[in-house]
Amino acid sequence: MEQYIGSDHILQKRQQYFYPCTSHFYRTPPQIVKGDMQYLYDHENRRYTDFFAGVSVVACGHCNPEIVRRTEEQLRTLQHTCTIYLTQPNVDLAQRMAEVLPGDLKRSFFVNSGSEANEGALLLARLHTGKRGFIALEQGLHGRTYLTMSMTGLRMWRTDPQLEADRSVTFIPRPYERGMSGEEAAQRSLAALKKVLDEKGGDIAAMIAEPIQGNAGIIVPPAGYFAEVKALLEQYGVLLIADEIQTGFGRTGEMFAIDRYGVQPDIITMAKALGNGVPVAAFATTDEIAASFNRPSASTFGGNPVSAVTAMAVLDYIESHQLVQRSRELGDVLQQGLRDLAVRFPEVITEVRGAGLMIGAELFGEDTSRGAALVDEVLEHMKDKGYIIGKNGVDRNVLAFQPPLVITEEDIAGMLTALEETLRSITC
Ligand code: PMP
Repeated sequence: MEQYIGSDHILQKRQQYFYPCTSHFYRTPPQIVKGDMQYLYDHENRRYTDFFAGVSVVACGHCNPEIVRRTEEQLRTLQHTCTIYLTQPNVDLAQRMAEVLPGDLKRSFFVNSGSEANEGALLLARLHTGKRGFIALEQGLHGRTYLTMSMTGLRMWRTDPQLEADRSVTFIPRPYERGMSGEEAAQRSLAALKKVLDEKGGDIAAMIAEPIQGNAGIIVPPAGYFAEVKALLEQYGVLLIADEIQTGFGRTGEMFAIDRYGVQPDIITMAKALGNGVPVAAFATTDEIAASFNRPSASTFGGNPVSAVTAMAVLDYIESHQLVQRSRELGDVLQQGLRDLAVRFPEVITEVRGAGLMIGAELFGEDTSRGAALVDEVLEHMKDKGYIIGKNGVDRNVLAFQPPLVITEEDIAGMLTALEETLRSITC
């Protein structure tokens, strides 16, 4: 194992060469050196079952051999040309995407990251509507670039305090509030939306929303919410952009999370799971809206042959292994297991929520600083027991379970047992 420098040296190098903003999970973080489907291994060959999938990325599992084989083949054959030359992988991928995208969304523009996909979608909305303004949900997360950070309501990810001065974005409350029913919170959000549209709908190009908020603590809006949002937006000629960067490709038990609301967005943005670890992202729309994107634009790496072939292999794998259905079924098992735990620890686990294999367990409810401290403690103990769990939420008081969709029932049962032991040892 001597080829590995070890966690302490990695931390030293990060402190020396990274920007000071770079953070990491864990007091004693492992050096991860290998991945194999739902498992990760550290430099001392300790195995961890991964319940976070690099924040919803490796849906098909780490280093999935069926996908890696096709990526490798493409790497050896043709790595790069740029979209100004003709190649087959990106057109095949675009066609394949049209088959899985909702309704008549069928044109894809390929880029490299989620932020870039949202940038493209926002630009497209401006080009199509000729209007400038945007609406976003409070506590949402849409990216790290300047415009997408301006759309990001979650305070901790608004790196530049001057962003408050950006007047093109209006935030409305999300359809969730602790202590309020889902329906009440949805009505409050819709009333705020209507007010903004009444006041300035004439200058609003689009509303962007995660159909299920990820980083803000896994928030699932009530069933009718997005249909009402869409109907309101249509009255004012405002487009709906569904940010499916975290929720897309089976994560929530549907191919796209917006599908559960029976709504077709005007633009959909995708990244993360599409490449299963290889950078590839896209924004997709209808023929009519795509026609407005008619000025020169090209991406150097967007849709390169290696990413395109990988994404096709991902879509094939999701389909042939029925991962969407698996996400729904195993998500139910995991969610039920967490609910059972909540019954045994009623003061500790105050809410379990989610869809498919995107589930959050909030700790200590309103006592958010106590919840956040316990989340960190649980993560540390679980890591020592061989389980990688995530965290999120506005106050970082939510345990996040977003495993590769290839996880098994046995993995879930083992994790739940370890979690129960952990809660018992820390809180009792
Ligand atoms: N939108 C959502 C919903 C996300 O979760 C993220 C990343 N966490 C982004 C956008 C930004 O994606 P990227 O980091 O690939 O730029």
